[in-house]
Amino acid sequence: MTTTMTPTNFALGEEHNLLRASVKQMLQRFESRREEFREVARREKRFPQELWEAFAEVGLQGCLVPEEYGGNGAGLLALTIGFEEICANGFSPGLLLVTAMDSACILKNGSPDVKERFLPKIADGSLKLCFAITEPDAGTNTFRISTTAKRDGDRYLLNGQKIFISGADVADYMLVVARTTTLEELQAQGKPKSHGLSLFLVDTKAKGLEKTPINIGLSEELTQFQLFFDNVEVPADQLIGQEDNGTFAMFNSLNPERILAGAICAGMAESALRKAVDYAKQRKVFKDTPIGAYQSIAHPLAEVKIGLEAVKLMTYRAAWAFDREMNPAEVGNYANMAKFMGADLAIKAVDAAIETYGGLAFAEETGLINQWAGARLFKTAPVSREMILNYVSEWNLGLPRSY
Ligand SMILES: Cc1cc2nc3c(=O)[nH]c(=O)nc-3n(C[C@H](O)[C@H](O)[C@H](O)COP(=O)(O)OP(=O)(O)OC[C@H]3O[C@@H](n4cnc5c(N)ncnc54)[C@H](O)[C@@H]3O)c2cc1C
Repeated sequence: MTTTMTPTNFALGEEHNLLRASVKQMLQRFESRREEFREVARREKRFPQELWEAFAEVGLQGCLVPEEYGGNGAGLLALTIGFEEICANGFSPGLLLVTAMDSACILKNGSPDVKERFLPKIADGSLKLCFAITEPDAGTNTFRISTTAKRDGDRYLLNGQKIFISGADVADYMLVVARTTTLEELQAQGKPKSHGLSLFLVDTKAKGLEKTPINIGLSEELTQFQLFFDNVEVPADQLIGQEDNGTFAMFNSLNPERILAGAICAGMAESALRKAVDYAKQRKVFKDTPIGAYQSIAHPLAEVKIGLEAVKLMTYRAAWAFDREMNPAEVGNYANMAKFMGADLAIKAVDAAIETYGGLAFAEETGLINQWAGARLFKTAPVSREMILNYVSEWNLGLPRSY
């Protein structure tokens, strides 16, 4: 499984191949500690700080930060390669995902002062960020969120709730989507629901912010939280973008999030495929024939390989469009498709690995059932499969909306 697993290099330059190699080399240092990171984080709620620092050493936090702010400006395509490699080696880039998506938004929408204060620290790994949009009563329908931010002199006061916020305990700041104009006010003004959203960089240690952990049935290095905002103060200069016009700015975060989710899924699929192929070559149950000779085992794995090439190409295409600063709506098309295809492939890949392993797949030490849960998550989050299909139906095909 060396040459056959070599990913397509279409659209990739020498710098991307070098980055892939340096990420791979860096991860080898942590090879024997992969499960420890996952388990310790889950049981003891301890973040793998050494891995985070190693990500910074190879420049991953700095990919979306230009050189003038201390980053390397390698871009989203480069970061996509890094994510693929991290996941193909069985590690998780959860907090890197949310930090990167926030850094993209700060770069495109933050004031010069905010960029000066935050971006260099993001690039060198000294600042971690998380992202908070989901609410218990809004869910997929972002425009229904009800967390409010009211201007009060040189600060805003935030009130409301968020749910499933990954890494709120380890992040220093979070990018919060809140309403600066409520739905009732918009209705009275005759304005659309997409108006009135604003983004804020909120200190995760701010007074009035309460975090309650949520136990999820998946072992990963990040914990999710329900957050309660009770008059949480945010300095007015930590508004990211314009007040009430946050929807557009938000997509500067959500598009990279979806593209990187596609890369995570490609990496997870590659990891599951490698594991399954290795096992299929050595497991024999009838005579001396390895189970990989049976088409019932081989063909699903071959299908995953074909899908993997397609997902990588779509993910690179989306990242390329983002790096070229194409219209966010156009980037969004590719980003949605990359995430959609990636999630389906990751589930299919882990399922094919489970099929290959037979009963042994259910032994905890193979990690396959947890990998299945990890892959299945991406069908639902960060944006559900159904909402992507809704988007494509409406915006690509011009079909009427049902909701
Ligand atoms: C492990 C984990 C980590 C997360 N991390 C974060 C985070 O860091 N920050 C954050 O803000 N959020 C986070 N989330 C939230 C995640 O983005 C949401 O769970 C996801 O967007 C779906 O929203 P929901 O759970 O409210 O589902 P709902 O909106 O309640 O939807 C339920 C189901 O109905 C379907 N549905 C809803 N409306 C339609 C429609 N119009 N047409 C067809 N089907 C529809 C959905 O597709 C879904 O299958 C996380 C979630 C999980 C599980």
